Amino acid sequence: KITASKDIRQAFLSYFEQKGHKVVPSSSLVPADDPSLLFTNAGMVQFKQVFLGEEKRDYKRAATCQKCVRAGGKHNDLENVGYTARHHTFFEMLGNFSFGDYFKEGAIRYAWDFLTNIIGLPKEKLWITVFEDDDEARELWHKVAGVPKDRIVGLGEKDNFWAMGDTGPCGPCSEILIDQGEEVGCGSPDCRVGCDCDRFLELWNLVFMQFFRDESGELHPLPRPSIDTGMGLERIAAVCQGKLNNFDSDLFEGIIRAIEDLSNQKYGRSPEIDVAMRVIADHGRASAFLIADGVIPSNEGRGFVLRRIIRRAARYGRTLGLSEPFMARVCDRVVEEMKDAYPELVSAKSSMRQILDTEEERFLKTLDFGLEILMEELDTLRKKGEGIIPGSFAFKLYDTYGFPIDIVQDVAKEQGFEIDREGFERELEAQRKRSKGASKEVVTKELPPKYQELVEQGRGGEFIGYETLEAKATLL
Ligand code: ATP
Ligand code: MG
Ligand code: MG
Ligand code: MG
Repeated sequence: KITASKDIRQAFLSYFEQKGHKVVPSSSLVPADDPSLLFTNAGMVQFKQVFLGEEKRDYKRAATCQKCVRAGGKHNDLENVGYTARHHTFFEMLGNFSFGDYFKEGAIRYAWDFLTNIIGLPKEKLWITVFEDDDEARELWHKVAGVPKDRIVGLGEKDNFWAMGDTGPCGPCSEILIDQGEEVGCGSPDCRVGCDCDRFLELWNLVFMQFFRDESGELHPLPRPSIDTGMGLERIAAVCQGKLNNFDSDLFEGIIRAIEDLSNQKYGRSPEIDVAMRVIADHGRASAFLIADGVIPSNEGRGFVLRRIIRRAARYGRTLGLSEPFMARVCDRVVEEMKDAYPELVSAKSSMRQILDTEEERFLKTLDFGLEILMEELDTLRKKGEGIIPGSFAFKLYDTYGFPIDIVQDVAKEQGFEIDREGFERELEAQRKRSKGASKEVVTKELPPKYQELVEQGRGGEFIGYETLEAKATLL
């Protein structure tokens, strides 16, 4: 039986290779030639031009294990990390792709065969969602995979219709979920497939790219429909290992052990410590992989997301009683754990150390003072019987002490407060207008020479836009 994450990764790629797929390496977390996208957030990103028909490859089927980051931009899971059992900022997405070759039936057959026969998941615990109008998919799941009709659930556009952008290829999707049992759920009497809690854990998304949406919003059938799928390795690994939380899988074991050693604390004894350890483990992986792909902390774009990730981890370090920079040591462990699958981590190790130490040292100078002021403010609010942190105060913390909003959000959550986020955004926008034209912070000169070279070669990539206006707001 396959249980170790490295065996699952391997089994997935071999399975699809045997089924005529070309195994393609993961692309960088910094999307090539796509300055509008913050990070690679799914397996299909490196194949975008192929799906659009603008690029031809000498294969029609591909399989990958793709590095993904979902922090900032359209898909932002940063604030979920630590609190749900299934979200990371950095994760690995297993995917198989058909470029105008097999379609719904093939995709369903492969996914079901892989999960039930290769991995050996219990069929009776698996649920299927389809787009509510997609009778074809509903029929196929029943016919091809033998899933009983009452475990095939139709959901609306928000959950089960996928689009590359406002125009372009799009289509219904279908997901495979595993029921982890009532104990895992939110406890609401309305908890069912589609609920946002961890009970019906979404494992695999199969996207049936079959339409082209034109400027007027009209859907036209694609002459050669395609398949794009994605399954999170951390989720399937946890399930295979009988764990109800991704962070309890073997992918995180060594990293959490390292954090235990660093902090002299134990994992699994108090929720507060566990959340901190999970966040640090996750953010350690994200930092290591982002730096290895040429991202450096800065005040905008990709670098700002990395800065937020490092600072959020640094604040959780305080929860564990860590008072010195520690992320470099967490990343050392990440490199050890992941270097077989991702050898690029090894050559980035010394840059990682220098970048993280510099970044943390700089932030630690203001962190304690900022936290003190935040706690005083919460005291005052509490005495006044108020439960909302004013946006202007959150902005002051950002502006004076370099607190990204997620840190204030985390503390607010712990202390039972909410934040006036709109007020915060308003202040931020006003400041942006004031400082327009002011010089940008230059950080490259502090970099180790080898790393500077990397950035100069353009590996760090330049981020010039946002996918949507909404994305722009959530990035802050
Ligand atoms: P969820 O509803 O759980 O947030 P999603 O619908 O946003 O997931 P998709 O965009 O369909 O996820 O991505 C395909 C697969 O990638 C998911 O089915 C899941 O296995 C995995 N995945 C998505 N987001 C994350 C994440 N933040 N961390 C780990 N795995 C993820
Ligand atoms: Mg999601
Ligand atoms: Mg989902
Ligand atoms: Mg999904």
